[in-house]
Amino acid sequence: MDEKKYDLVIRNAMIYTMNRERLVIDRGTVAVQDDRIALIEPADQSVSYCADQVIDADGMVLFPGFIDTHIHIFQSFLKGLGADHRLIEWLNMSALPYGKIMTPYQHELAAKLACMEALKSGCTGICEFFYTNQDPELAYACIEGMRSTGIRSVFIRTFQDAGEEYGMPSIFIEPADKAMREVESLKKRYKEDDMFSIWTGPDVTWSTTKEGYQTMLEYCLSENVRYSMHLKETEVDNEMCFRTYGKDIVDLLEEIGFLTDKMLAVHCVNLTENDIRRFAEYGVSISHNPAPNLYLGSGIPPIPESMCAGVNVALGTDGAASNNSTDMLETMKLAALIQKGLHRDASVITADQVIQMATCGGAKAIGMEDLTGTLETGKKADMILFDPRHLKSFPNHDAEATVVYASSEENIDTTIVNGKIVYHKGNFTGGLSEDQLIQAISAEVEKMKDC
Ligand SMILES: [Zn+2]
Repeated sequence: MDEKKYDLVIRNAMIYTMNRERLVIDRGTVAVQDDRIALIEPADQSVSYCADQVIDADGMVLFPGFIDTHIHIFQSFLKGLGADHRLIEWLNMSALPYGKIMTPYQHELAAKLACMEALKSGCTGICEFFYTNQDPELAYACIEGMRSTGIRSVFIRTFQDAGEEYGMPSIFIEPADKAMREVESLKKRYKEDDMFSIWTGPDVTWSTTKEGYQTMLEYCLSENVRYSMHLKETEVDNEMCFRTYGKDIVDLLEEIGFLTDKMLAVHCVNLTENDIRRFAEYGVSISHNPAPNLYLGSGIPPIPESMCAGVNVALGTDGAASNNSTDMLETMKLAALIQKGLHRDASVITADQVIQMATCGGAKAIGMEDLTGTLETGKKADMILFDPRHLKSFPNHDAEATVVYASSEENIDTTIVNGKIVYHKGNFTGGLSEDQLIQAISAEVEKMKDC
């Protein structure tokens, strides 16, 4: 009998690798050594594996973990505020006023809340788009909170160098060169690696000057830093660019060389055919956030058209103030259904394409497609065990359809990030307790009401 030694072995799972060939193993074994997938093979009962931990995943499905490419973590404290109002009104009732008053401790708790919810709904990676830059301690607290949960994370330290006349609070506004120095100082403070990286980006088009884009771009190109921005979320975004610069925002960005494969454009509701063509040409990725686009009445972006043109599309939940949760399973279902309804064609987007956006599409959007996003030997062990044996999702005739159309967080049995089990059967490892966190947050939310 052949015996091998690993840190973790998962046996008897149905395995969706999401690799290029879409290999599915009906019953297989995955072995993990350190942070990597050491082996994937069909089950062979004659082989015994020696491991510190063995999970018998009989009846469960193993997928790559999902990557949430856009979130504003502090908004996890603001669920429901400004509900049923248009974007600018909503901003002024929730994200902007509370962004001014939240403390570092509240940011840390919000980060734990968002990341734990993400892990519980199958996410192994998350991109925080951070814009409350009035006090560097807020960023530190957010980063510490994210990292404490064990999720793979990107911290995007954004900037606003204008926009007071459109309602951007003056305490958020700073010159772009100062912002880049702050990005640089964050990079010095935290050691970046595959588990944690720092990007930057302009927040929104109505709070960024042409000079601001140029200063940031120069920094990113010289220091090899990736960047993200909200783009064409509503028609208002473009109107403001026309008013200031007399041109469309994508034309402006192209003119200054901003459209590159380091760019992750968020929302893109109002992309034109010409924008899509240029995104494909320059390698810009899209973070599609269906829940806030519907919640705020912004519209439905041309996702099938973008994918058809060869643009990489990933998924995001966006801040919980405009989504009310950080649930990628819900996001995946919405991403599929809104396009089918809009196009009056059930075949316009498939469950497989949506899972691709959530896994390998997300990995490509964060520049980590060689490390994560698929289950392949040598890649990082970022994966989830999905248990379809719940009333909502059983019987499971087609695992991809079950995940996209009939799932909820109760289906996520185990979440593994970088080879470590961080969530298993309702419990978070690393001493994090859902009850304690809820208790701590409710005390802080009471204090916020008095401000
Ligand atoms: Zn956003």
